[in-house]
Amino acid sequence: LGARINSALQTLSRESVIDEKAVDALLREICGALLESDVNVRLVQQLRLNVKALVNKDELAASANKRKVIQNALFDELCRLVDPGVQPWVPRKGKQSVVMFVGLQGSGKTTSCTKLAAYYKRKGMKVGMVCADTFRAGAFDQLKQNASRAHIPYYGSYNEADPVQIAMEGVAKFKKDKFDLIIVDTSGRHKQEAELFAEMEQIAAAIKPDNTVFVMDGTIGQAADSQARAFKESVDIGSIIITKMDGHAKGGGAISAVAATGSPIIFIGTGEHMHDLDRFSARPFVSKMLGMGDLTGLVETVQDMQLDKNEDMMKNIAKGVFTLKDMRDQLQSIMKMGPLSKLMGMMPGMSPEMMQGIDADESTRRLRSYMCIFDSMTESELGSDGKVFEDEARLRRVARGSGVRPVDIQAMLHQHKQFGQIVKRMGGPKGMLSKMNPAM
Ligand code: GDP
Ligand code: MG
Repeated sequence: LGARINSALQTLSRESVIDEKAVDALLREICGALLESDVNVRLVQQLRLNVKALVNKDELAASANKRKVIQNALFDELCRLVDPGVQPWVPRKGKQSVVMFVGLQGSGKTTSCTKLAAYYKRKGMKVGMVCADTFRAGAFDQLKQNASRAHIPYYGSYNEADPVQIAMEGVAKFKKDKFDLIIVDTSGRHKQEAELFAEMEQIAAAIKPDNTVFVMDGTIGQAADSQARAFKESVDIGSIIITKMDGHAKGGGAISAVAATGSPIIFIGTGEHMHDLDRFSARPFVSKMLGMGDLTGLVETVQDMQLDKNEDMMKNIAKGVFTLKDMRDQLQSIMKMGPLSKLMGMMPGMSPEMMQGIDADESTRRLRSYMCIFDSMTESELGSDGKVFEDEARLRRVARGSGVRPVDIQAMLHQHKQFGQIVKRMGGPKGMLSKMNPAM
Protein backbone atom coordinates (compact mmCIF):
# COMPACT_ATOMS: atom_id res chain seq x y z
CA LEU A 1 0.00 0.00 0.00
CA GLY A 2 2.71 2.43 1.05
CA ALA A 3 4.73 1.93 -2.13
CA ARG A 4 1.77 2.64 -4.41
CA ILE A 5 0.70 5.74 -2.48
CA ASN A 6 4.25 7.05 -2.28
CA SER A 7 4.81 6.68 -5.98
CA ALA A 8 1.52 8.46 -6.69
CA LEU A 9 2.54 11.30 -4.40
CA GLN A 10 5.90 11.53 -6.10
CA THR A 11 4.25 11.79 -9.49
CA LEU A 12 2.26 14.70 -8.13
CA SER A 13 5.29 16.55 -6.84
CA ARG A 14 6.87 16.32 -10.30
CA GLU A 15 3.90 18.07 -11.94
CA SER A 16 4.59 21.74 -12.52
CA VAL A 17 0.99 22.80 -12.17
CA ILE A 18 -1.11 21.04 -9.57
CA ASP A 19 -4.66 21.64 -10.61
CA GLU A 20 -7.83 19.90 -9.65
CA LYS A 21 -7.29 17.29 -12.34
CA ALA A 22 -3.91 16.29 -10.96
CA VAL A 23 -5.31 16.06 -7.43
CA ASP A 24 -8.23 13.95 -8.66
CA ALA A 25 -5.89 11.58 -10.43
CA LEU A 26 -3.82 11.23 -7.30
CA LEU A 27 -6.85 10.57 -5.11
CA ARG A 28 -8.08 7.97 -7.59
CA GLU A 29 -4.77 6.17 -7.31
CA ILE A 30 -4.72 6.39 -3.51
CA CYS A 31 -8.29 5.11 -3.24
CA GLY A 32 -7.47 2.19 -5.50
CA ALA A 33 -4.60 1.30 -3.20
CA LEU A 34 -6.82 1.55 -0.11
CA LEU A 35 -9.40 -0.77 -1.67
CA GLU A 36 -6.64 -3.27 -2.34
CA SER A 37 -5.82 -3.07 1.35
CA ASP A 38 -9.37 -4.18 2.14
CA VAL A 39 -10.62 -0.81 3.30
CA ASN A 40 -14.38 -0.76 2.87
CA VAL A 41 -15.70 0.79 -0.36
CA ARG A 42 -18.02 3.27 1.34
CA LEU A 43 -15.30 4.42 3.71
CA VAL A 44 -12.87 4.94 0.84
CA GLN A 45 -15.40 7.13 -0.94
CA GLN A 46 -15.98 9.23 2.16
CA LEU A 47 -12.26 9.52 2.79
CA ARG A 48 -11.74 10.74 -0.75
CA LEU A 49 -14.31 13.51 -0.30
CA ASN A 50 -12.84 14.55 3.04
CA VAL A 51 -9.28 14.72 1.76
CA LYS A 52 -10.38 16.62 -1.30
CA ALA A 53 -12.29 19.17 0.77
CA LEU A 54 -9.21 19.70 2.87
CA VAL A 55 -6.93 20.19 -0.11
CA ASN A 56 -9.32 22.68 -1.67
CA LYS A 57 -9.53 24.60 1.56
CA ASP A 58 -5.78 24.83 1.54
CA GLU A 59 -5.62 26.71 -1.79
CA LEU A 60 -2.94 28.94 -0.38
CA ALA A 61 -0.48 26.13 0.07
CA ALA A 62 2.25 26.24 -2.51
CA SER A 63 2.27 23.40 -4.98
CA ALA A 64 5.30 21.87 -3.34
CA ASN A 65 3.34 21.57 -0.15
CA LYS A 66 0.29 19.99 -1.70
CA ARG A 67 1.91 16.60 -1.49
CA LYS A 68 2.49 17.05 2.23
CA VAL A 69 -1.06 18.35 2.73
CA ILE A 70 -2.55 15.32 1.02
CA GLN A 71 -0.23 12.91 2.80
CA ASN A 72 -1.11 14.37 6.19
CA ALA A 73 -4.82 14.50 5.42
CA LEU A 74 -4.76 10.87 4.36
CA PHE A 75 -2.92 9.87 7.51
CA ASP A 76 -5.31 11.81 9.75
CA GLU A 77 -8.38 10.44 7.98
CA LEU A 78 -7.20 6.87 8.43
CA CYS A 79 -6.41 7.51 12.10
CA ARG A 80 -9.86 8.97 12.58
CA LEU A 81 -11.44 5.90 10.98
CA VAL A 82 -9.64 3.45 13.18
CA ASP A 83 -10.10 5.44 16.39
CA PRO A 84 -13.76 5.99 17.36
CA GLY A 85 -12.71 8.44 20.07
CA VAL A 86 -14.17 6.29 22.83
CA GLN A 87 -12.19 5.47 25.96
CA PRO A 88 -11.95 1.68 26.08
CA TRP A 89 -13.30 -0.12 29.12
CA VAL A 90 -10.64 -1.51 31.43
CA PRO A 91 -11.02 -3.97 34.31
CA ARG A 92 -10.08 -2.81 37.80
CA LYS A 93 -8.72 -4.83 40.66
CA GLY A 94 -11.40 -5.60 43.22
CA LYS A 95 -14.28 -4.82 40.83
CA GLN A 96 -15.19 -8.44 39.90
CA SER A 97 -15.80 -7.69 36.24
CA VAL A 98 -17.22 -10.11 33.71
CA VAL A 99 -16.06 -9.96 30.11
CA MET A 100 -17.75 -11.97 27.39
CA PHE A 101 -15.96 -12.88 24.16
CA VAL A 102 -17.92 -13.21 20.90
CA GLY A 103 -16.91 -13.91 17.31
CA LEU A 104 -17.13 -16.47 14.56
CA GLN A 105 -15.55 -19.89 14.89
CA GLY A 106 -11.85 -19.74 14.10
CA SER A 107 -11.63 -15.99 14.63
CA GLY A 108 -9.29 -16.55 17.57
CA LYS A 109 -11.61 -16.15 20.57
CA THR A 110 -10.23 -18.90 22.78
CA THR A 111 -6.65 -17.91 21.98
CA SER A 112 -7.39 -14.22 22.67
CA CYS A 113 -9.23 -15.04 25.93
CA THR A 114 -6.08 -16.69 27.18
CA LYS A 115 -3.87 -13.83 26.00
CA LEU A 116 -6.06 -11.27 27.75
CA ALA A 117 -6.25 -13.37 30.90
CA ALA A 118 -2.47 -13.73 30.97
CA TYR A 119 -2.07 -10.00 30.33
CA TYR A 120 -4.18 -8.99 33.34
CA LYS A 121 -2.73 -11.74 35.48
CA ARG A 122 0.67 -10.15 34.88
CA LYS A 123 -0.85 -6.91 36.15
CA GLY A 124 -1.58 -8.64 39.42
CA MET A 125 -5.26 -9.46 38.95
CA LYS A 126 -7.02 -12.65 39.89
CA VAL A 127 -8.34 -13.86 36.54
CA GLY A 128 -10.51 -16.87 35.68
CA MET A 129 -11.73 -18.30 32.37
CA VAL A 130 -15.12 -19.89 31.69
CA CYS A 131 -15.71 -22.17 28.70
CA ALA A 132 -19.28 -21.58 27.51
CA ASP A 133 -18.61 -23.21 24.15
CA THR A 134 -20.57 -26.45 24.05
CA PHE A 135 -20.96 -26.36 20.28
CA ARG A 136 -17.48 -27.27 19.13
CA ALA A 137 -16.15 -30.68 20.08
CA GLY A 138 -12.99 -30.34 22.12
CA ALA A 139 -13.62 -26.69 22.96
CA PHE A 140 -13.32 -27.30 26.70
CA ASP A 141 -10.12 -29.30 26.25
CA GLN A 142 -8.60 -26.49 24.22
CA LEU A 143 -9.47 -23.86 26.83
CA LYS A 144 -8.28 -26.13 29.62
CA GLN A 145 -4.95 -26.60 27.88
CA ASN A 146 -4.49 -22.89 27.15
CA ALA A 147 -5.50 -21.89 30.66
CA SER A 148 -3.24 -24.46 32.33
CA ARG A 149 -0.26 -23.34 30.29
CA ALA A 150 -0.88 -19.77 31.47
CA HIS A 151 -1.66 -20.90 35.03
CA ILE A 152 -5.15 -19.42 34.84
CA PRO A 153 -7.99 -21.05 36.81
CA TYR A 154 -10.79 -22.23 34.50
CA TYR A 155 -14.34 -23.52 34.63
CA GLY A 156 -16.19 -25.78 32.21
CA SER A 157 -17.99 -29.08 31.82
CA TYR A 158 -17.90 -32.18 29.62
CA ASN A 159 -21.49 -33.12 30.45
CA GLU A 160 -23.55 -29.96 30.56
CA ALA A 161 -24.80 -29.07 27.07
CA ASP A 162 -26.37 -25.73 27.90
CA PRO A 163 -23.86 -22.90 27.45
CA VAL A 164 -26.04 -20.49 29.43
CA GLN A 165 -26.00 -22.82 32.42
CA ILE A 166 -22.21 -23.22 32.31
CA ALA A 167 -21.63 -19.50 31.88
CA MET A 168 -23.80 -18.73 34.91
CA GLU A 169 -22.17 -21.41 37.06
CA GLY A 170 -18.65 -20.35 36.11
CA VAL A 171 -19.30 -16.66 36.74
CA ALA A 172 -21.00 -17.43 40.07
CA LYS A 173 -18.11 -19.61 41.20
CA PHE A 174 -15.40 -17.10 40.36
CA LYS A 175 -17.43 -14.28 41.89
CA LYS A 176 -17.78 -16.22 45.09
CA ASP A 177 -14.00 -16.72 45.11
CA LYS A 178 -13.48 -12.97 44.69
CA PHE A 179 -11.88 -13.01 41.25
CA ASP A 180 -11.13 -9.57 39.75
CA LEU A 181 -11.75 -10.52 36.14
CA ILE A 182 -13.90 -13.34 34.77
CA ILE A 183 -13.53 -14.04 31.07
CA VAL A 184 -16.31 -15.99 29.38
CA ASP A 185 -15.42 -17.71 26.10
CA THR A 186 -18.40 -18.52 23.87
CA SER A 187 -18.89 -20.65 20.79
CA GLY A 188 -18.88 -19.40 17.23
CA ARG A 189 -20.37 -20.76 14.02
CA HIS A 190 -18.92 -20.77 10.55
CA LYS A 191 -21.40 -18.20 9.37
CA GLN A 192 -23.34 -15.37 10.94
CA GLU A 193 -26.41 -17.49 11.75
CA ALA A 194 -29.55 -16.90 13.78
CA GLU A 195 -28.74 -19.72 16.26
CA LEU A 196 -25.40 -18.19 17.09
CA PHE A 197 -26.87 -14.79 17.82
CA ALA A 198 -29.73 -16.27 19.84
CA GLU A 199 -27.21 -18.14 21.99
CA MET A 200 -25.08 -15.04 22.50
CA GLU A 201 -28.09 -13.00 23.53
CA GLN A 202 -29.14 -15.64 26.05
CA ILE A 203 -25.70 -15.86 27.60
CA ALA A 204 -25.39 -12.08 27.74
CA ALA A 205 -28.79 -11.78 29.41
CA ALA A 206 -27.82 -14.40 31.99
CA ILE A 207 -24.37 -13.15 32.99
CA LYS A 208 -24.77 -9.42 32.23
CA PRO A 209 -21.17 -8.82 31.16
CA ASP A 210 -19.45 -5.54 32.03
CA ASN A 211 -17.89 -5.61 28.60
CA THR A 212 -18.33 -7.64 25.44
CA VAL A 213 -15.26 -8.16 23.29
CA PHE A 214 -15.81 -8.83 19.60
CA VAL A 215 -12.98 -10.90 18.16
CA MET A 216 -12.41 -10.62 14.43
CA ASP A 217 -9.95 -12.33 12.14
CA GLY A 218 -7.87 -9.58 10.52
CA THR A 219 -7.40 -11.52 7.31
CA ILE A 220 -11.03 -11.71 6.13
CA GLY A 221 -10.82 -8.66 3.87
CA GLN A 222 -13.98 -6.96 2.63
CA ALA A 223 -16.15 -9.43 4.61
CA ALA A 224 -15.23 -7.52 7.78
CA ASP A 225 -17.92 -4.90 7.29
CA SER A 226 -20.91 -7.25 7.15
CA GLN A 227 -19.56 -9.49 9.90
CA ALA A 228 -18.99 -6.62 12.33
CA ARG A 229 -22.43 -5.18 11.52
CA ALA A 230 -24.15 -8.51 12.16
CA PHE A 231 -22.54 -8.85 15.59
CA LYS A 232 -23.22 -5.23 16.46
CA GLU A 233 -26.92 -5.80 15.82
CA SER A 234 -27.33 -8.57 18.36
CA VAL A 235 -24.80 -7.84 21.10
CA ASP A 236 -23.65 -4.71 22.79
CA ILE A 237 -20.04 -4.73 21.57
CA GLY A 238 -17.81 -2.81 23.96
CA SER A 239 -14.39 -3.44 22.44
CA ILE A 240 -12.64 -5.22 19.63
CA ILE A 241 -9.65 -7.50 19.27
CA ILE A 242 -8.33 -8.04 15.75
CA THR A 243 -6.37 -11.27 15.39
CA LYS A 244 -3.82 -12.67 12.97
CA MET A 245 -2.24 -9.32 12.26
CA ASP A 246 1.05 -11.19 12.00
CA GLY A 247 -0.10 -12.79 8.76
CA HIS A 248 -1.08 -11.14 5.51
CA ALA A 249 -3.80 -8.98 7.05
CA LYS A 250 -3.75 -5.60 5.34
CA GLY A 251 -5.41 -3.48 7.98
CA GLY A 252 -8.57 -2.55 6.10
CA GLY A 253 -10.61 -5.10 8.07
CA ALA A 254 -9.72 -3.44 11.33
CA ILE A 255 -10.96 -0.12 9.99
CA SER A 256 -14.27 -1.68 8.92
CA ALA A 257 -14.78 -3.25 12.34
CA VAL A 258 -14.41 0.11 14.06
CA ALA A 259 -16.60 1.91 11.53
CA ALA A 260 -19.36 -0.70 11.80
CA THR A 261 -19.42 -0.91 15.59
CA GLY A 262 -18.21 2.48 16.81
CA SER A 263 -16.17 0.56 19.38
CA PRO A 264 -12.45 0.86 20.03
CA ILE A 265 -9.89 -1.80 19.16
CA ILE A 266 -8.13 -2.67 22.40
CA PHE A 267 -5.57 -5.22 21.29
CA ILE A 268 -4.30 -6.94 18.19
CA GLY A 269 -3.24 -10.56 18.05
CA THR A 270 0.15 -11.03 16.43
CA GLY A 271 0.71 -14.77 16.69
CA GLU A 272 -0.44 -18.03 18.22
CA HIS A 273 1.59 -17.72 21.40
CA MET A 274 0.15 -16.53 24.70
CA HIS A 275 2.25 -13.36 24.68
CA ASP A 276 1.47 -12.38 21.08
CA LEU A 277 -0.91 -9.61 22.05
CA ASP A 278 -0.16 -5.95 21.35
CA ARG A 279 -1.94 -3.00 22.80
CA PHE A 280 -3.61 -1.12 19.95
CA SER A 281 -2.76 2.45 19.09
CA ALA A 282 -4.14 4.26 16.03
CA ARG A 283 -1.15 6.25 14.76
CA PRO A 284 1.44 3.49 14.79
CA PHE A 285 -1.14 1.18 13.25
CA VAL A 286 -1.78 3.55 10.35
CA SER A 287 1.96 4.22 9.89
CA LYS A 288 2.49 0.53 9.59
CA MET A 289 -0.43 0.15 7.23
CA LEU A 290 0.84 2.89 4.95
CA GLY A 291 4.30 1.36 5.01
CA MET A 292 5.82 4.79 5.66
CA GLY A 293 8.41 4.00 3.07
CA ASP A 294 10.68 6.97 3.53
CA LEU A 295 12.88 8.37 6.21
CA THR A 296 10.66 11.42 6.81
CA GLY A 297 7.85 9.05 7.70
CA LEU A 298 10.07 7.15 10.05
CA VAL A 299 11.41 10.22 11.77
CA GLU A 300 7.94 11.66 12.21
CA THR A 301 6.66 8.41 13.61
CA VAL A 302 9.46 8.25 16.12
CA GLN A 303 8.94 11.87 17.13
CA ASP A 304 5.19 11.44 17.49
CA MET A 305 5.60 8.53 19.77
CA GLN A 306 8.29 9.87 22.02
CA LEU A 307 6.86 13.30 22.67
CA ASP A 308 5.16 12.43 25.93
CA LYS A 309 7.88 10.31 27.40
CA ASN A 310 11.10 11.96 26.45
CA GLU A 311 11.02 14.70 29.03
CA ASP A 312 11.25 12.45 32.06
CA MET A 313 13.85 10.33 30.45
CA MET A 314 16.00 13.25 29.35
CA LYS A 315 15.89 14.57 32.91
CA ASN A 316 17.04 11.22 34.19
CA ILE A 317 19.77 10.94 31.60
CA ALA A 318 21.03 14.40 32.44
CA LYS A 319 21.49 13.10 35.97
CA GLY A 320 23.22 10.01 34.67
CA VAL A 321 20.33 7.77 35.72
CA PHE A 322 18.82 5.08 33.53
CA THR A 323 16.04 3.05 35.14
CA LEU A 324 14.41 -0.15 33.96
CA LYS A 325 11.38 1.97 33.14
CA ASP A 326 13.47 4.17 30.84
CA MET A 327 14.62 1.05 29.05
CA ARG A 328 11.06 -0.21 28.75
CA ASP A 329 9.80 3.08 27.30
CA GLN A 330 12.61 3.12 24.75
CA LEU A 331 11.95 -0.44 23.64
CA GLN A 332 8.23 0.18 23.57
CA SER A 333 8.57 3.07 21.14
CA ILE A 334 10.64 0.85 18.90
CA MET A 335 8.12 -1.98 19.06
CA LYS A 336 5.17 0.28 18.30
CA MET A 337 6.63 0.85 14.88
CA GLY A 338 6.12 -2.77 14.04
CA PRO A 339 8.33 -5.73 13.44
CA LEU A 340 12.01 -4.88 13.41
CA SER A 341 12.33 -6.21 9.90
CA LYS A 342 9.85 -3.58 8.77
CA LEU A 343 11.67 -0.93 10.74
CA MET A 344 14.93 -1.82 9.07
CA GLY A 345 13.17 -1.78 5.73
CA MET A 346 12.43 1.90 6.34
CA MET A 347 16.08 2.79 6.57
CA PRO A 348 17.37 4.23 3.33
CA GLY A 349 19.99 2.08 1.67
CA MET A 350 19.04 -1.03 3.61
CA SER A 351 18.84 -3.78 1.04
CA PRO A 352 17.41 -7.22 1.75
CA GLU A 353 20.90 -8.70 1.33
CA MET A 354 22.26 -6.46 4.05
CA MET A 355 19.61 -7.74 6.39
CA GLN A 356 20.68 -11.33 6.00
CA GLY A 357 22.01 -12.71 9.23
CA ILE A 358 19.90 -10.32 11.25
CA ASP A 359 17.16 -12.41 12.76
CA ALA A 360 14.50 -9.75 13.08
CA ASP A 361 11.84 -12.18 14.24
CA GLU A 362 14.05 -13.38 17.03
CA SER A 363 14.72 -9.80 18.13
CA THR A 364 11.01 -9.05 18.08
CA ARG A 365 10.34 -12.13 20.19
CA ARG A 366 13.00 -11.11 22.66
CA LEU A 367 11.55 -7.58 22.93
CA ARG A 368 8.12 -9.07 23.59
CA SER A 369 9.43 -11.24 26.39
CA TYR A 370 11.15 -8.17 27.88
CA MET A 371 7.78 -6.41 27.89
CA CYS A 372 6.25 -9.32 29.79
CA ILE A 373 9.07 -9.06 32.31
CA PHE A 374 8.51 -5.31 32.75
CA ASP A 375 4.76 -5.90 33.09
CA SER A 376 5.40 -8.23 36.00
CA MET A 377 7.46 -5.71 37.93
CA THR A 378 6.15 -3.33 40.57
CA GLU A 379 6.44 0.41 40.00
CA SER A 380 9.31 0.67 42.46
CA GLU A 381 11.18 -2.15 40.76
CA LEU A 382 10.66 -0.46 37.39
CA GLY A 383 11.96 2.81 38.76
CA SER A 384 15.12 1.14 40.01
CA ASP A 385 18.45 0.39 38.40
CA GLY A 386 17.82 -3.37 38.62
CA LYS A 387 20.07 -4.11 41.59
CA VAL A 388 16.99 -5.11 43.61
CA PHE A 389 16.93 -8.32 41.60
CA GLU A 390 20.03 -9.61 43.34
CA ASP A 391 17.31 -10.77 45.72
CA GLU A 392 16.53 -14.27 44.37
CA ALA A 393 12.98 -14.35 45.69
CA ARG A 394 12.14 -11.20 43.74
CA LEU A 395 13.78 -12.55 40.62
CA ARG A 396 11.78 -15.74 40.86
CA ARG A 397 8.54 -13.86 41.46
CA VAL A 398 8.96 -11.79 38.31
CA ALA A 399 10.01 -14.89 36.36
CA ARG A 400 6.85 -16.66 37.44
CA GLY A 401 4.69 -13.67 36.62
CA SER A 402 6.14 -13.22 33.14
CA GLY A 403 6.49 -16.87 32.20
CA VAL A 404 10.24 -16.69 31.51
CA ARG A 405 13.24 -18.26 33.22
CA PRO A 406 15.22 -16.32 35.86
CA VAL A 407 18.26 -16.44 33.53
CA ASP A 408 16.24 -14.61 30.85
CA ILE A 409 15.64 -11.81 33.32
CA GLN A 410 19.30 -11.76 34.22
CA ALA A 411 20.19 -11.46 30.54
CA MET A 412 17.82 -8.50 30.23
CA LEU A 413 19.31 -6.89 33.35
CA HIS A 414 22.76 -7.32 31.85
CA GLN A 415 21.68 -5.46 28.72
CA HIS A 416 20.15 -2.78 30.89
CA LYS A 417 23.45 -2.37 32.73
CA GLN A 418 25.31 -1.92 29.45
CA PHE A 419 22.78 0.69 28.34
CA GLY A 420 23.16 2.36 31.72
CA GLN A 421 26.94 2.68 31.34
CA ILE A 422 26.53 4.48 28.05
CA VAL A 423 23.96 6.76 29.62
CA LYS A 424 26.27 7.54 32.54
CA ARG A 425 28.95 8.60 30.08
CA MET A 426 26.45 10.85 28.31
CA GLY A 427 24.84 12.36 31.38
CA GLY A 428 26.02 14.00 34.55
CA PRO A 429 27.66 17.43 34.88
CA LYS A 430 30.75 16.33 32.94
CA GLY A 431 28.86 14.21 30.46
CA MET A 432 28.50 14.63 26.73
CA LEU A 433 24.96 15.84 27.13
CA SER A 434 25.93 18.91 29.13
CA LYS A 435 28.16 20.04 26.25
CA MET A 436 25.42 19.64 23.72
CA ASN A 437 22.82 22.08 22.61
CA PRO A 438 20.36 22.53 25.48
CA ALA A 439 17.50 22.19 22.99
CA MET A 440 18.37 18.51 22.57
P1 GDP B 1 -12.05 -19.59 18.13
O1 GDP B 1 -12.71 -20.65 17.34
O2 GDP B 1 -12.61 -18.25 17.83
O3 GDP B 1 -12.00 -19.88 19.58
O4 GDP B 1 -10.53 -19.53 17.60
P2 GDP B 1 -9.21 -20.14 18.22
O5 GDP B 1 -8.78 -19.35 19.39
O6 GDP B 1 -9.40 -21.61 18.43
O7 GDP B 1 -8.17 -19.86 17.05
C1 GDP B 1 -8.29 -20.42 15.76
C2 GDP B 1 -6.89 -20.54 15.15
O8 GDP B 1 -6.33 -19.26 14.93
C3 GDP B 1 -5.93 -21.29 16.05
O9 GDP B 1 -5.14 -22.13 15.25
C4 GDP B 1 -5.09 -20.18 16.65
O10 GDP B 1 -3.80 -20.62 16.99
C5 GDP B 1 -5.06 -19.17 15.53
N1 GDP B 1 -4.85 -17.79 16.00
C6 GDP B 1 -5.55 -17.09 16.90
N2 GDP B 1 -5.08 -15.82 17.04
C7 GDP B 1 -4.02 -15.73 16.19
C8 GDP B 1 -3.11 -14.66 15.86
O11 GDP B 1 -3.15 -13.52 16.37
N3 GDP B 1 -2.16 -14.96 14.93
C9 GDP B 1 -2.07 -16.19 14.35
N4 GDP B 1 -1.10 -16.38 13.43
N5 GDP B 1 -2.92 -17.19 14.62
C10 GDP B 1 -3.89 -16.97 15.54
MG1 MG C 1 -12.98 -21.31 20.70
